[in-house]
Amino acid sequence: MRFGPALMAQADALARFTSDAPRITRTYLSPEHKNAGAYLIDLMRGAGMEAGFDALGNIVGCYAGADAHAPVVMTGSHQDSVRNAGKYDGLFGILSAIACVKDLHARGKRLPFALEIVGFGDEEGVRFGATLIGSKAMAGTFDPAWLDRTDTDGITMRQALADFGGDPDGIAALDRRGRNVIAFVESHIEQGPVLLNDGLALGVVTAIAGATRLRVTVTGLAGHAGTVPMGQRRDALTAACEMVLAVERHCETHRTEGGLVGTVGMLEARPGAANVIPQDVTFTVDVRSGDDAARRAAVAALRARFADIARGRDVDVGAEIFYAADAAPCHPALQAQLAAAITAQGLAVRHLPSGAGHDAMVFPPLCPTAMLFVRCGNNGISHHPDETLTAEDAEVATAALLHFLENFTPVH
Ligand SMILES: [Zn+2]
Repeated sequence: MRFGPALMAQADALARFTSDAPRITRTYLSPEHKNAGAYLIDLMRGAGMEAGFDALGNIVGCYAGADAHAPVVMTGSHQDSVRNAGKYDGLFGILSAIACVKDLHARGKRLPFALEIVGFGDEEGVRFGATLIGSKAMAGTFDPAWLDRTDTDGITMRQALADFGGDPDGIAALDRRGRNVIAFVESHIEQGPVLLNDGLALGVVTAIAGATRLRVTVTGLAGHAGTVPMGQRRDALTAACEMVLAVERHCETHRTEGGLVGTVGMLEARPGAANVIPQDVTFTVDVRSGDDAARRAAVAALRARFADIARGRDVDVGAEIFYAADAAPCHPALQAQLAAAITAQGLAVRHLPSGAGHDAMVFPPLCPTAMLFVRCGNNGISHHPDETLTAEDAEVATAALLHFLENFTPVH
């Protein structure tokens, strides 16, 4: 193997940069971020790149193109982690890209574009509650108000950035709009079981799912649990239960529509006593799909179903949207180029949407965007210490990314 064993060793080495040993927790602008960045910058320089931290603490390496005026292709993923994370989420995409450049450099090969590898400082949003901070700065959608956000110790992002050696006044200069960036491609572990179940190492992402979140309020009538006969109750919780099951049933039936999924993650019943019929229930619904039309149709269908259920049980229902984001489409021509890179490894190609958010989702307004998914083991678990990746899959994913880069054709 050319790449796999070294990548696994590098991921093991990076796991030591944690605030929470033996668990892995690496938040934005922490000492661990600084140390992991120094490790990655060393790797980048050893691979023939110019590298350093930028004003926001992103780790940026550049492999110059064949000529000084060459356009730019960007790749990379995030260096930060959730609390008690796995070793490969984010970091794999950075390490795999560095391995590609190291191989090119060893052969003395330049590409017809400058290749920029970014280890985004923050994607997960653990410390300041704002996600995708690094990638949004590059896409020109960084919100300066985030600098005033505080962590749990009351430290503002502005202060943390200054302590890190960053530059709050230099953020606007990170904006890549108008800088001749012609593509962004991200390699990432799938964080789900689809490739594993299909027996495939690699997949091409079609779109990063859009999401709609609803807050649903069901209002019935409280009453004595011992005296109100069954059949004469206006129980908000039994009505809500039917609605929760309707979410599951609808999304199961329509699951092929852009990978539609629906989740009720929070539910609260009041007054909340063992001997009182529940009067007020609130719950959330999170609906995601790579297909915006399917997601909107699902939300409309669920609202109609909730109204039917409420009518049948003589309760009131309201369903208000409190968050909505459209899907981020991956460019069809770049999907085809990634598919060709997978085929070149002798593997079958599987297209799939990403239900999770990624740095790649902020790039489509800036440039054509693509994502390569790599199989993970253990039933696809991620954001968890049991997250796994094999050296064989790391090998083939890196070979595919390298093939993609060496055969890249600009698209519009
Ligand atoms: Zn990730």
